[in-house]
Amino acid sequence: MPNKELNLSQWSVIAGPCAAESRIQIVESAKKLSESGVNVMRAGLWKPRTSPNSWQGVGEEGVNWMVEAREITGIAISTEVKDEKVLEKTLRAEFDVLWIGSRNAQCFSLLEEVGKSTSGLRLPIILKRGMGADLDEWLGAAEYITKHNPNVILCERGIKGFPKNTRNVLDLQTAKLAQIRSGLPVIIDVSHAAGRRDLVTPMAYAAKAAGFNGVMIEAHPDPDQAMTDANQQISLKSLDLIMRKLDRIPSSL
Ligand code: PEP
Ligand code: MN
Repeated sequence: MPNKELNLSQWSVIAGPCAAESRIQIVESAKKLSESGVNVMRAGLWKPRTSPNSWQGVGEEGVNWMVEAREITGIAISTEVKDEKVLEKTLRAEFDVLWIGSRNAQCFSLLEEVGKSTSGLRLPIILKRGMGADLDEWLGAAEYITKHNPNVILCERGIKGFPKNTRNVLDLQTAKLAQIRSGLPVIIDVSHAAGRRDLVTPMAYAAKAAGFNGVMIEAHPDPDQAMTDANQQISLKSLDLIMRKLDRIPSSL
């Protein structure tokens, strides 16, 4: 059953593996994540990879794992919609939240289609910032969805720049401007911004203290063995610790 109570404009944590890899991994993650108080479990099923020769995700098989994990634990479920075919499949399975990734963040036909096909449902749609998008480009992209479905959550995930030691540059300044200008909730994907585990905790604290609406964090039962983004995924135990510590940080929302 889809999760009707979800309100991602309040402080929310979206966490889970970069990619769904097996039924056990998803069910085990869902149990731990929901015990930790995570609001939405994320897992990529169709992964948009830099190379066509890289593993592309489990695809449709993983839909049942996610739905089962929700049935067992009650946790809301979310995955990336990379094209119209995926959109149809995720709507059929009644995913609670959909997200559009950075690589598709200005694919206007997809944005419009997502908006139109979720308008009646007002399904929450997370729109990641394009990795090279400025504020106008990011907000313009969001409008392609909000014209039809106003329930959009913007997600800052870091932009390209000249970082030597991190995967991307976490641009909290533009994220804050996006929140002020659009009036939409803004969450911070600290994992893809940093690309490394040791920055996840401090950047999550920063996001909460700065009045953002939530964070997205990649967490995996066995991060070193993860099939994608192993360097940045944290263990479910570390995630639990972050949740406890985040409780002590007042949100300025
Ligand atoms: C992801 O969240 O799995 C992902 C691929 O992120 P991004 O689109 O921000 O690179
Ligand atoms: Mn990832």
